[in-house]
Amino acid sequence: MPKKQKHYDVIVIGAGPAGFASAIRCAQFGLKTACIDNWRNKKGQSRLGGSHLNTGGVASMTLLESAKIYHQLTHGIAEHGIYAEAISIDLPLMIQRKDKIIDEIAHKMADLFVHHKIDHIQAKGRLLNTRQVEITTVDSQTHSILDAEHIILATGSNPIKLPCAPIDNEFIIDPIAALNLDTVPKKLAIIGAGVVGLELASIWNRLGAETILLEAQENFLSLLDQQISGEAYRVYQQQGLDLRLGARVISAKKGNIKVTVDYQDQEGTHTLRVDKLIVACGRKPNTGDLAAPEADLLLDENGYVHVDDNCRTNLPGVYAIGDLTLLGPMLAHKGIEEGVFVAELIAGFHNPINYDNLPSVIYTEPEIAWVGQTEQALRATGEGIKIGIFPLTATVRALAMGKTEGMVKIIAHAENDKILGVHIIGAQASELIAEAVLAMEFSASSEDLARTIHARPTLSEAVHDAALALKERALHL
Ligand code: NAD
Repeated sequence: MPKKQKHYDVIVIGAGPAGFASAIRCAQFGLKTACIDNWRNKKGQSRLGGSHLNTGGVASMTLLESAKIYHQLTHGIAEHGIYAEAISIDLPLMIQRKDKIIDEIAHKMADLFVHHKIDHIQAKGRLLNTRQVEITTVDSQTHSILDAEHIILATGSNPIKLPCAPIDNEFIIDPIAALNLDTVPKKLAIIGAGVVGLELASIWNRLGAETILLEAQENFLSLLDQQISGEAYRVYQQQGLDLRLGARVISAKKGNIKVTVDYQDQEGTHTLRVDKLIVACGRKPNTGDLAAPEADLLLDENGYVHVDDNCRTNLPGVYAIGDLTLLGPMLAHKGIEEGVFVAELIAGFHNPINYDNLPSVIYTEPEIAWVGQTEQALRATGEGIKIGIFPLTATVRALAMGKTEGMVKIIAHAENDKILGVHIIGAQASELIAEAVLAMEFSASSEDLARTIHARPTLSEAVHDAALALKERALHL
């Protein structure tokens, strides 16, 4: 019989970016807060941060940085008059560095929980009815029940499995295992040329793997502005990524040392033999065992938690945030904003999130970042628009860096000049997009951006020049 324990103002289930931010913000309001999370690292130690920190975005980012340095040393420094010899990779050390950085961040998060007097409960949480949560400790399997005025569900998502390519974690692996390889595969195939597939391809291709991306859709990165995805396709191909579009994988089988992958495209069925196969076909919400049946938590047919515009589920006092809902894309920063929003709502403040101005980033090299609407979406509505484009080949800083691939594209309303979308492909696009997000948050016009002084020489001049180009008065083109 489970024993009953403490009462809290707020219980957060899940300590990924969304749950962590929510718990901290609740504690800042003086609410008695607990955060339940059962994540264990490779060594079996309890860790905050969820998949974004431990096996996703942050983990991938640290390896992307290592891969970038290696690639630059082997490909991009001779033109600077710098020669380096005998450059080699110590992959276990590279992976160790990633794990060390993750550990450091996780420790800082744990310190912040202590500082804010948040109870970190290292267990699995399950929503019961009447604002109660059952907790099961990972080791002892003991059960107890906590109750709270408010419960925030933030259990995140995990990679979708493909029945035709069963994961064996040796030859056919998921994106988590793909960040922990002990050798660089000679020949690598990735199913799915979405964000995850491209970021993993960017790591392993740069570290020397022959990399083939098999993407079922004919349109490459179809959610992006098509001019930007077209440029990305060209640049990735030039870098040696083998992008096969309209290629639907129908089976993958592991042999003794290789994986055999069959895929279909317009020309018929093809077979590939590769050393590793990564399945990167999207993510699904972690709602399998999130709530007891008697709780009656409403989910949709794909397992997403049904919420209203204020992240409220069908149950009074129960909220869902981050990857669990369809309120916005599966992005860590969307989850963080929702975590803060719900905490403030509980504390009596209503500061709605502007999902229209949510930035997205693909952390390949060059990076891709965007905010607002695409040219094709705006043309489809019949909206009158003006477009300003500035290529990085004409930006002095990009020339100095030797990173001239890409462009900045700004779309504004034809009459009132309000900025409707900004799309960037190029070095540090993830940083450059912040200015565009801020401009749009303040309902800026392209003229506002054009009249804002930008330091020279910086990459941000490309944003300035794109705004000027929109009125046909770019200075450097
Ligand atoms: P995705 O949906 O973006 O891409 C998966 C791709 O796999 C799709 O294009 C799909 O057509 C393809 N696919 C599916 N089945 C296939 C098959 N049998 N053969 C060939 N292709 C097939 O999913 P993802 O890239 O895994 O990303 C998941 C989520 O995580 C997204 O919402 C993404 O935004 C988010 N995420 C974001 C970041 C970031 O912000 N940089 C990083 C990682 C993940």
